[in-house]
Amino acid sequence: MNRKISHLGIAVKDLAASEQLFRKLLGAEDVHHEEVDDQGVRIASFKVGESIIELTEATRPDSAIAKFIDKRGEGIHHIAIEVDDVASELTRLKSEGIQLIDETPKQGAHEMMIAFLHPKSTNGVLVELCQRG
Ligand code: ZN
Repeated sequence: MNRKISHLGIAVKDLAASEQLFRKLLGAEDVHHEEVDDQGVRIASFKVGESIIELTEATRPDSAIAKFIDKRGEGIHHIAIEVDDVASELTRLKSEGIQLIDETPKQGAHEMMIAFLHPKSTNGVLVELCQRG
């Protein structure tokens, strides 16, 4: 199973302001913008080596990002691990006793299929599995 860190998701209140900040931090020109309606988020992402830093702003109050910021403030929201096959990883992890948020993969940003694991099972870290295509 091929794995790498696909991206780090950072929850932000003001995407435009955070984008300016991260442009400075990373000295980056290239920014990818995307809106994922399903999850009620708008993102700006920067390539950092083989990984991506993904700034995520809520587009509606019931979005998971809005709830996260209400509870914990801005900051690192999730770590995404790229795998070859999200569905089979979900089956494997479930059999290992890991609690899942998503029982089946769903459409995410960057044309990836994604699924989240429950932070209760993973040391308080929200983990996303993702797969290309
Ligand atoms: Zn993500």
